[in-house]
Amino acid sequence: RNLTARADAVTSVGASSAADATPVLLLDNIRKSFGSTQVLRGISFDIRPHEVVALLGPSGSGKSTLMKCVNLLEQVDDGQIWLGNTDITDPRANQDRIRARIGVVFQQFNLFPHMSVLKNVTLAAIKVHHWSRDRAESRALELLDRIGMRAKAGAYPDQLSGGQQQRVAIARALMTDPELLLLDEITSALDPMLVGEVLSMVAELKSQGTTILMATHEMSFAHDAADRVVLLRRGVIAENGTPREVMDESEDPETREFFAHFR
Ligand code: ADP
Ligand code: MG
Repeated sequence: RNLTARADAVTSVGASSAADATPVLLLDNIRKSFGSTQVLRGISFDIRPHEVVALLGPSGSGKSTLMKCVNLLEQVDDGQIWLGNTDITDPRANQDRIRARIGVVFQQFNLFPHMSVLKNVTLAAIKVHHWSRDRAESRALELLDRIGMRAKAGAYPDQLSGGQQQRVAIARALMTDPELLLLDEITSALDPMLVGEVLSMVAELKSQGTTILMATHEMSFAHDAADRVVLLRRGVIAENGTPREVMDESEDPETREFFAHFR
């Protein structure tokens, strides 16, 4: 399969030195409807290694649906999604193996309340990916240590702040050293005071080279931390460019109107 040719067929703004590399993620003309509602109507873009891409758009524009398609929680109706060299929309693809290559954090309800932090972080690695308990626990403690949460390994979620819970959820998503991290409005349910510590962790991951697709309404974070912004509108990509190009310099009246709400 000629992936490079496929990638070239997709609009890719901000060509960089990584432009020749196989994309970490490539969406090729994705379509998804629920009943008669066409939510995604031909979505194509790619994410290069180490890129942080902010997925923006009004509520209901399909950000979560897009991410669920990437994580195989929803099936696309048409189009292909490539994770590296794997066509993950191929029905023969091994779903558990693909999920181990993608870390996911949602808006809320990420941790099981009746399980300790350590248990939460190790559960999928042990049950889904068949790691030994020793391997899972040592990896989990290493990740918790990195975010200053090792001392909380035995705590339960309700003993943590919402920000700490989301940071643990991110640590859990990193267990299998995924190629791609999907963050779906991970700060939207947080007390405003706690948003900063979670966004700082995302910035830290970016500086370590983690490839990230994040749906967010934190416009100043998207502006300052994202390499690229993809704006969804009515099921299609309205904008795909650098934060500056899309958020500051777009001539499109609807785009300008959308960002004006957040000023
Ligand atoms: P966003 O994350 O941008 O707010 P969503 O992807 O959650 O948008 O939703 C996009 C549209 O798809 C909305 O109109 C929503 O009501 C609809 N939708 C999402 N999931 C389902 C579902 N499982 N069944 C029916 N409609 C859905
Ligand atoms: Mg959503």
